[in-house]
Amino acid sequence: MKKTMLFLLTIITSLFSFSSTSLTAETGPVNQESVDLRILETTDIHADLMNYDYYQTKIDNRIGLVKTATLIKEARKESKNTLLFDDGDHLKGNPLGEYLARIRGMKKGKTHPVYRAFNYLKYDAIAIGNHEFNYGLGFLKTALKGAKMPVLNANVYSVKKNKPYFKPYTILKRTVIDQSGKTHELKIGVIAFMPTQIMRWDKANLEGKVFAKPIVETAKEYVPIVKEKGADIIIALAHTGISSEPYQPDTENAVYYLTQIPEIDVILAGHSHSVFPGPVFQSLPNTNLETGLINEKPVVMAAAFGSRLGIIDLKLSHRAGKWQIVARKSYTKSITDENGKPLVKTDKGLYQLVKEEHEETVDFIKKLGL
Ligand SMILES: [Zn+2]
Repeated sequence: MKKTMLFLLTIITSLFSFSSTSLTAETGPVNQESVDLRILETTDIHADLMNYDYYQTKIDNRIGLVKTATLIKEARKESKNTLLFDDGDHLKGNPLGEYLARIRGMKKGKTHPVYRAFNYLKYDAIAIGNHEFNYGLGFLKTALKGAKMPVLNANVYSVKKNKPYFKPYTILKRTVIDQSGKTHELKIGVIAFMPTQIMRWDKANLEGKVFAKPIVETAKEYVPIVKEKGADIIIALAHTGISSEPYQPDTENAVYYLTQIPEIDVILAGHSHSVFPGPVFQSLPNTNLETGLINEKPVVMAAAFGSRLGIIDLKLSHRAGKWQIVARKSYTKSITDENGKPLVKTDKGLYQLVKEEHEETVDFIKKLGL
């Protein structure tokens, strides 16, 4: 009899822990030391700060960080504890980026409008994407001087020093408020990666200066160090896509294999401009598109050009002397509805902040008669 009871109890317990994978499904008693943490992602902005199509010189409300900014502010209002990250490929991809890098250049002492925007929105950390190399390492170095947050990448190495070219990871210390109003200090490890294909794509800019190490191998090398240094959770800013193709070290889309590394808790994906969770990934194995989990890890990819905001909601509980993720859900929010109708207003503060370079770019294009 006793054995049967124990067996039943085991089943009930495992059923309960299974249901807690969905935040909305959690029905257990409120833990005194339970913290809700919301992680926000932008990715592949490609210099689309404005809701503007420079090729047709007209407003385009399907793109622009001035729109995503409104979603960011709304998402922050709904949650006590939030973090904001950019997953890379933010400097190049439209005429504004080209104008600043190739025509006007950076004015001394003036911050690049992309980093001015990131500073204004108070990003907690950002990743470097492959396109950040397109204007050369010199331009990138100058532009990055204006970025006030940690700028991360772990798998691009300096040839001269045989060490990471950028800061490989950071541990953010954040005071968070639990459900009973008590504060705690949380250590959030953040590490970033990008495809090794940069050495081919940007050969002229990079050869002899930097080299790229495989993403998954680099992750396996670094995340135990980040954990050792006291990170309660680890977030990967993975500027790489999602594919379950058989693993090979130089895979351009490494997210699936990053989810299998035990120490990595959360993955912000990018590079392929897809939406995760989304129907494109219907046949991906071990994937739950309802909760946005791959191999039980929350993953989000917020398309591109500021069209979506990626959101991962975590519930952390202090158990057995450490913070554990007891519920998680990932999803994205769009700046437009399915017909392209705007769902959010333009953030006026951000618009004012980047207006000058935007107008200069439009003037330049008009003068060219394009
Ligand atoms: Zn990319």
